[in-house]
Amino acid sequence: NRSDVHYFGAGPAPLPTAVLEKASQVLLNYKDKGIGLCEISHRSPEANEILADTKQALSTLLDIPDDYDILFLQSGGSGEFSATVYNLVSVWVEKKRAEIANEVGDNKDEVLKRLRKVVDEELKLDYLVTGSWSKKASEEAARLVGSKHVNVALDARKANDGKFGKIPPESEWNLTPRKNGGPAFVYFCDNETVDGVEFPAFPKSLEGEDAPLVCADMSSNFISRKVDVRKYAIIFGGAQKNIGNTGIAIVIIRKSLLPPQSQHASPELLRELNLPVGPIVLDYPTIAKNNSLYNTLPIFDVWVAGQVMAGLVNTYGIKRIGGQEEISNEKARLIYGALDKYPDVYRVVPDKSVRSRMNICFRVHGGDADKEKAFLAGAEKKGLLGLKGHRSVGGIRASNYNAVSLEGAKRLVAYLEEYATA
Ligand code: PMP
Repeated sequence: NRSDVHYFGAGPAPLPTAVLEKASQVLLNYKDKGIGLCEISHRSPEANEILADTKQALSTLLDIPDDYDILFLQSGGSGEFSATVYNLVSVWVEKKRAEIANEVGDNKDEVLKRLRKVVDEELKLDYLVTGSWSKKASEEAARLVGSKHVNVALDARKANDGKFGKIPPESEWNLTPRKNGGPAFVYFCDNETVDGVEFPAFPKSLEGEDAPLVCADMSSNFISRKVDVRKYAIIFGGAQKNIGNTGIAIVIIRKSLLPPQSQHASPELLRELNLPVGPIVLDYPTIAKNNSLYNTLPIFDVWVAGQVMAGLVNTYGIKRIGGQEEISNEKARLIYGALDKYPDVYRVVPDKSVRSRMNICFRVHGGDADKEKAFLAGAEKKGLLGLKGHRSVGGIRASNYNAVSLEGAKRLVAYLEEYATA
């Protein structure tokens, strides 16, 4: 029975029971229309209302300024690894083209010649690699534009015996210098789901007047803490952890990166420069112009996310996401507290300074396979599910997303105590 278990899976992840109960009704009959939400047109007034309400709830929760747009795509988080590259490289190229055209006038051949040189010498995408998801994103960037254009400004494994688990001080990062216009963007993953590493705060070296465009993957800590949206060019996340069910990714993008304020390079120009032309379904200007309805958007998925967000808005009122942040912090504090209390039994994997509030990764008895198996079996008997670590790193991972209740965290703490003292 649903009420007997607490699920700590890393995504897909639990959803509020009240939302799922309502979902089962709207699947059959939405607003007494006699048909369900998966059956109605994405262009119907009902769908438009759902889109508008969901955007509104997210804007309220995260205090998203008016000069940002919210997009919904079917890309998953991984699709955004590619979309960010296609779109921001396109913005960068067009900006450079316009600058050169300003200097040399209408001579197209000359513009192209100079632009080729600028791309060759100056196009850099900076990646902070702090775990397996930012690593994957950096690899996708290299696959698309070539590794010569990808600057891994930080590989956090280097300072930590080849393993993720620390974020070295910013003074040791190797960001592309801001002179010459700096990198096309700087990318990081705010919370590394597999490795349990979360940025404690926005990096200082990415702030300031001539700050680079910052692009952050918040798939696994979306709406779990306050975010100063203005510091980001793009924030994205798949819905299936903190917000909703699998099927959509949400992109928050600074409007100045979209037309009419910013033009993107034409496909012809990108081809001339041997740069990739992205699929139209990942093209932010196209998605934005069509209010995320360029093609068939899974409106049911948007509805679920909207219900989860509206629930948070109602629960926390003017505290907005600050209320959820307090609960998330408290749950993480309780669980880490129990782990730290028994250092002979448990070892938290990442360094204390970067411990994720969302994915709590630890080993039992030094990673002894049999003992970890027994730990998981014991947990399962208590209805504590989904605690197995990612297959690539093993160990235990308790994902502490928004729909994991304080009660669930306390039940896990009780089990950690019981196991350690048995
Ligand atoms: N980024 C992060 C931080 C993730 O945790 C995940 C999925 N676990 C992804 C990206 C990829 O998301 P998707 O499976 O939706 O492509």
